[in-house]
Amino acid sequence: DVKLQSVLSSLAQPAKELGAQSPGRRAPDARYVKLNTNENPFPLPTMVWRSAISALERQYLYPEDDNIGLREAAADAYGLSKDHVIAGNGSSELLALIYRAFLGPGDSVAMMSPGFSFNRKLALLQRAKLLEVSCSDSPSIPIEQFLLGPAKDAKFILLANPNNPTGTFVSIDDIERLVAQSDRLIVLDEAYVDFAPDNGLRLVHRYPNLLLLRTLSKSYAAAGIRVGFCLGHPEIIGRLRNIQNVFNMNIIGQAVGVSILSHRAAYEENHRHIKNERERVATQLRQFGFGVAPSHTNFLLARVPNGHDGKWWHAALERDGILVAVFADDGLDDCIRISIGTKEQMDSFLTAVAAIRGHEK
Ligand code: PMP
Repeated sequence: DVKLQSVLSSLAQPAKELGAQSPGRRAPDARYVKLNTNENPFPLPTMVWRSAISALERQYLYPEDDNIGLREAAADAYGLSKDHVIAGNGSSELLALIYRAFLGPGDSVAMMSPGFSFNRKLALLQRAKLLEVSCSDSPSIPIEQFLLGPAKDAKFILLANPNNPTGTFVSIDDIERLVAQSDRLIVLDEAYVDFAPDNGLRLVHRYPNLLLLRTLSKSYAAAGIRVGFCLGHPEIIGRLRNIQNVFNMNIIGQAVGVSILSHRAAYEENHRHIKNERERVATQLRQFGFGVAPSHTNFLLARVPNGHDGKWWHAALERDGILVAVFADDGLDDCIRISIGTKEQMDSFLTAVAAIRGHEK
């Protein structure tokens, strides 16, 4: 179509290098055991449910300006003021906002690798350079590489703790050393922190160069509601709030977010369950010949036994109705990542693994 070609070429194309758009993934049939995107199959507490329903009574109104009520609830929960908090439609919206706010063409950003692959797209869209500092699954960060290497001029440094997809947890003392010694902004993504032994919240009070990202997607079982927070110094948070979309969250997200934050105790049993299941599945996988690194998240990264790669296991498990994640690069091609769900889901997974191993022999 000539007109289409002409209009396409008349547009600025910041996203050209991203290539063809992926077709998107349809939600799998409910019969699949879905262990591929680190969701948490836990029903919302009844009170949280009710808050979602009553929010619908205000469906004709725009959501509250600047998410003030939700930010106040988060500030209360985290022991901060609302000026230390910005709320987003999932923490990934806030991550994108950080890129847009703080990176210009030609700038660089440093991140731990392997890490969350969304960062590559975000850096490319800003025409910025992404410096990936290899940390594999080591339980410490190479602080000197962030302080002295090419990463020292990065506009900000991104760490995920615990990390995805490795599940590795770095001590908060290590993180603090980097934050204290660096004159850069450090973005600490704590998406999985409720499954870990410690967290970096106390550092927000001590250091102005730290942003903490939190989400209700994993440990609060609300991935579909889309609620995330970024916590940090009011001057830096203010710059993010300055450029955010108007009405970036909807009324359900605002109401459910407030309600979840005030019912956090109701999730303790769920967190205990996930941690116990994680250890049970790790032990069994090791007996089946997988190499499983310690995890402090709601998933396991497992190196598959000799003979096949991660893709092969992904396909074999999918034939048995189990969905797990695989990675094309990052030196993780012989791994699968398994989210931890209910006991029944994990039993189905382990039964499928046993059958596949049995066939192989
Ligand atoms: N950070 C990390 C490390 C993640 O693994 C994810 C989800 N895969 C996110 C952030 C984004 O989570 P959400 O947008 O649902 O808050």
